[in-house]
Amino acid sequence: MSAIRSLRSIAARPAARGIFRPQFSLSTFQHRNASSKHPKGFEAPTSEDLQELRERVQEFTRREITEEVAAKTDKSNSFPNDMWQKLGDAGFLGITADEDVGGLGMGYQAHCVVMEEISRASGSIGLSYAAHSQLCVNQLQLNGTLEQKMKYLPGLIAGTKVGALAMSESGSGSDVVSMKTSAKAVDGGYIINGTKMWITNGPDASFVVVYAKTEPDKGSKGITAFIVEKEFEGFSCARKLDKMGMRGSNTGELVFDGVFVPKENVLGEINRGVKVLMEGLDIERLVLSAGPLGIMQAALDVALPFTHQRKQFGAPIAHNQLVQGKLADMYTKLQAAKSYTYATAKQVDEFGQIRTQDCAGAILYSAERATECALDCIQLLGGMGYVEEMPASRLLRDAKLYEIGAGTSEVRRIVLGRAFNKEYSGYAS
Ligand SMILES: Cc1cc2nc3c(=O)[nH]c(=O)nc-3n(C[C@H](O)[C@H](O)[C@H](O)COP(=O)(O)OP(=O)(O)OC[C@H]3O[C@@H](n4cnc5c(N)ncnc54)[C@H](O)[C@@H]3O)c2cc1C
Repeated sequence: MSAIRSLRSIAARPAARGIFRPQFSLSTFQHRNASSKHPKGFEAPTSEDLQELRERVQEFTRREITEEVAAKTDKSNSFPNDMWQKLGDAGFLGITADEDVGGLGMGYQAHCVVMEEISRASGSIGLSYAAHSQLCVNQLQLNGTLEQKMKYLPGLIAGTKVGALAMSESGSGSDVVSMKTSAKAVDGGYIINGTKMWITNGPDASFVVVYAKTEPDKGSKGITAFIVEKEFEGFSCARKLDKMGMRGSNTGELVFDGVFVPKENVLGEINRGVKVLMEGLDIERLVLSAGPLGIMQAALDVALPFTHQRKQFGAPIAHNQLVQGKLADMYTKLQAAKSYTYATAKQVDEFGQIRTQDCAGAILYSAERATECALDCIQLLGGMGYVEEMPASRLLRDAKLYEIGAGTSEVRRIVLGRAFNKEYSGYAS
């Protein structure tokens, strides 16, 4: 019922042009549950709702994220800034957030659908979208006080403000708990000093969720999350990074030079930042796993028509069994990865069950398959796969990021390994 209310309240907002408005029947939701990771009163959407949402996102991407926009974003290495407002108007920036602050409260399957379709149109716009709507908006939704949500979420969800999350440092990536950025308690708040590296949306962000050491001697038990505003004195973006892929998803190095953050901007509990961080990482990996799904679909969108139109030896190249084998492999990898991501998201939405190993497993699998599919796409296009006139090389460059960002493939395998060790600890005696 709350999903219906959410959609109706959003649909009534003047800004919500073209918003998804499904026709629900109340009984549809009767057995669907909420969890601590969903807004109060959350009821999971049906597969019909999700299909309708997908069609709405596709209408949006066909109109707003054309191949021309995607190619320009990549070539210019700059995010099309009017996109935030467009995404906000469409209602896509608060998919998991509470309706009271302008969100749709539709859950993680819905968030994966939007992420997948945007990434299908442009990997880099998809990555920036996830950093904003998941890493920032959903972290505030899950851990913010009512005052923090009322203050920060409406602008972020409307697309008038841009969000980011800053955890990694140049010396602390996989071992993020070894971070050096510090937050010293002072009268009325904290003073943050340090730098953060590779921060998606960092150069554009109005609000950044930042992790810093409040008790450096206590290791993982001495980290706290803060909300930092762009205008806070001492905060700056030192540089925008020039990346091989995900170009146009602006990535920056952030500097905190004696930034005073009022105590009202502590996100979650003091010294419990690792809880915020680790729980956030599970859902982050799950939602981000839909990015590679979109890229795999994009690779098929390019390779299928090309191989059926391109003739060699008097026949379409897709009539050769070696070419068919590649297309079949691409297709089955996409379907398998899709099933894993959406099954994991369904568990979260319908049973409130977040399995760390499956969140890590879903992105481990989809990320590696996406790189393979993008490579196959290049191969199937032959010479045209190797020139920038076609999107194949962009797909490969974008896909590779997902084996690194949000924890590398190696770290994801470690997460799975540790889960097995825990589950089978009784066998080691
Ligand atoms: C485009 C982009 C966007 C990003 N966006 C954000 C963002 O918005 N916010 C944010 O906080 N961070 C962000 N990151 C940072 C990202 O999360 C880190 O780059 C990632 O966690 C890896 O850390 P690292 O680069 O320091 O690599 P390292 O940790 O130095 O790892 C280097 C290599 O060693 C391997 N390795 C490390 N430890 C082990 C081990 N114990 N066992 C086996 N292998 C190991 C790694 O898997 C990797 O192959 C982004 C990165 C990129 C490239």
